[in-house]
Amino acid sequence: IACPNCHQIVLSKVDYSAGLLTYLFCGGLFFCGFVLGCCLIPFCVDRLKDAKHTCPVCKTVLGVYKRL
Ligand SMILES: [Zn+2]
Repeated sequence: IACPNCHQIVLSKVDYSAGLLTYLFCGGLFFCGFVLGCCLIPFCVDRLKDAKHTCPVCKTVLGVYKRL
């Protein structure tokens, strides 16, 4: 991917952060089971998180892929 900031061809770095779906999933589990610990599982599942692509050179955020 070409970074718009430093104009280098870089392989975008992907960071996963807890997104809206993660919190919804957490809330769903919490209301269904009230089992402590279970509601923390979504925070360990990268598939439920937002993927944030950043340039490894200049740290510019190239794009955020949200699940919702
Ligand atoms: Zn860059």
